[in-house]
Amino acid sequence: MPKYDAVIPRIGASVTFFGTAVLRQFEMMGVYPVNESVAITRSRDKLRSLQLLSRKGIGLPVTVFAHRSGNTDELLEIVGGAPVVIKLLEGTQGVGVVLGETHNAAASIIQAFGGVNTNILVQEFVKEANGEDIRCLVINDKVVASMKRTGREGDFRSNLHRGGSAQLIKITPMERQTAVSAAKIMGLNVCGVDLLRSAHGPVVMEVNSSPGLEGIEKATGIDIADKIISFIETRAKPDKTRTRGLG
Ligand code: ADP
Ligand code: MG
Repeated sequence: MPKYDAVIPRIGASVTFFGTAVLRQFEMMGVYPVNESVAITRSRDKLRSLQLLSRKGIGLPVTVFAHRSGNTDELLEIVGGAPVVIKLLEGTQGVGVVLGETHNAAASIIQAFGGVNTNILVQEFVKEANGEDIRCLVINDKVVASMKRTGREGDFRSNLHRGGSAQLIKITPMERQTAVSAAKIMGLNVCGVDLLRSAHGPVVMEVNSSPGLEGIEKATGIDIADKIISFIETRAKPDKTRTRGLG
């Protein structure tokens, strides 16, 4: 069996189960994982992530979790009424994120997901973010690069995969601190923390355990891949696998 020092997991959203199983195998062989399987699994579930972040007081958009909601009116009321954002629990690249612009539109979307037995999050729509979000690339509890992503004309989703564009941005100390805390809570050594600038301060939308490098390297001119390798060089030791983060 060849001996490996470290493994850099890059697990696509559609293969989380298989990818984390392979990673677990490496961990059991004592190979150092840049991000651990437990932390990756945690970050893939939007609800579980928000619960962990919320427990530690991280700023979040007001969010409710619904399965088959009997009372959509009440549900919408809790998040402050339409417009709201409705999300599938394991969507990615903006797919499965829908804007319910009016009360009636939101109610029928929620009912439609209920009809196909799908778990969803209903979230306050942070309109003041203006279709923009901030991606902070965190390595070893430091923000090493950050970019602002702007959605395509007419789209509230800023995902680069949805045609959004990226620009270098200077973040505030509060945003930096929020991103670093979120990475720590999730137990991820390398991750992309996505923030919205809301009227009540920075709010975390999600923490991505396999962040894309191309967009942020282009926007910032920073060699992120090189920083990940340097991190491995200082950190990777055989049998250093342990479960970090908070549950
Ligand atoms: P995905 O995992 O599919 O990227 P996100 O939760 O990151 O899902 O949402 C995709 C995009 O939609 C975000 O990058 C952001 O631009 C926009 N968005 C998501 N939630 C909200 C919200 N509550 N308010 C305003 N915009 C949002
Ligand atoms: Mg996203």
